[in-house]
Amino acid sequence: MNITFLGLGIMGSRMANNLIGTNANLTVWNRSAQACDVFKEKGISVAQSASEAVKDADIVFSMLSNPDVVESLFFGESGLLSEMKDSAIWADSSTVNPSFSRLSGEEAEKHKVRFMDAPVAGSKAAAQEGQVVFFCGGNQDVYNSCLPFFEAMGMKGMHLGKVGQGASLKMLVNGMLAQNMAVFSETIHLGEKLGLDRDMLLSMLPNLPVIAPFTQHKNEAMRARDYSDVHFPLEHMHKDIRLATVTAKEVGMEIHLAEAARKLFNGAEEDGLGRKDFAAVHEFIGKV
Ligand code: NAP
Repeated sequence: MNITFLGLGIMGSRMANNLIGTNANLTVWNRSAQACDVFKEKGISVAQSASEAVKDADIVFSMLSNPDVVESLFFGESGLLSEMKDSAIWADSSTVNPSFSRLSGEEAEKHKVRFMDAPVAGSKAAAQEGQVVFFCGGNQDVYNSCLPFFEAMGMKGMHLGKVGQGASLKMLVNGMLAQNMAVFSETIHLGEKLGLDRDMLLSMLPNLPVIAPFTQHKNEAMRARDYSDVHFPLEHMHKDIRLATVTAKEVGMEIHLAEAARKLFNGAEEDGLGRKDFAAVHEFIGKV
C-alpha cells in the first residue's frame, strides 16, 4: 500500500511522522522543501513535486492551510485529482467549510477518486503524541481503508456520515473555541479594569469548573504576553470562524456570537498577529 502525506506544517509534520511506523510505503511532500529534510533523514521518500507525490498513491492525506490552497492544488485540469489513480482515496484533514468538502467530493468523483473529509480535533501536542481525533465524512469502505492510518496518527476516528459531516463537526468545535478564546481574553481585560489582579485572574479562572479547560494552556502565554510558541496560528482560527459565519449564512441561520468573534480575529490578523498563536487575540481585544 502506498500512502502520501501532503502538507508538513505544524500539524502535518507531526501527523506524518506518526505514519512512519505503519507497514505502508510513505511518501511526503511540502511546498517549502525544508520541512521534508527530517523525513529524508529518516529514509522516507520525499517527492519533488505534489504531482509526483500522488500519482502512485493508494491513499493521499492532506493537511493544508485553507480551502483556497486545497482548491489550487487538487482541482482543475492539471490539479492533483487528475494525477491520481482511479479508485485511489483522498482524505483531506485540512479544516475547511462543509460546502467546500462536498465540492471536493464532487470534484474527486469526476476523476474517479474516492473522497473523505477527515479534519482533526487536537492541536500541536496531540498531533505529536498521536492523540488527535478524526471527524470523518464519506463512504464506510473509504473510512475502513483509512482507519488504520487514522489510528496511527490519532487516538481515534469518528465516522459521522456522508461527505461534509466531518467538516461540519469540526466547524462547530472550532467556532466554540474561537468564541471561548475571545470571551476569556475580554474577561481578563475587564477584570483588570475592575482592579482585580491580572495574575490572579489568569491563574484562578482556568481552574474553575465553569471555565473552558483549554484556557489552562493559554494563560501562561497571556501572562507573558508572548504568543511565539505557536500551537494554532491565529490566521487559521480567523479562517475557521469566518467559514463558520459563511456556513451559517448558507443554511439561513444568523449567528450573532460567532460574527462578533470573527470581527475580533479579523482585526487581530490585520494587526499582524496572524502567525502568532491564536491566544494573541487577547492583545487586539485589549486595544479596541
Ligand atoms: P501551518 O503550520 O500553517 O501549515 C500549513 C500547511 O499548508 C504547510 O504545509 C504549508 O506549506 C501548506 N501551504 C500553505 N499554502 C500553500 C500553498 N499555496 N501551496 C501548497 N502548500 C501550502 O498550519 P497547521 O497548524 O499545520 O494547520 C493545517 C490545517 O489544519 C489548517 O487547515 C488548520 O486550520 C488545521 N488545524 C490546525 C490545528 C492546530 O492546532 N495547529 C488543529 C487542527 C486543525 P509551507 O510549509 O510551504 O508553508
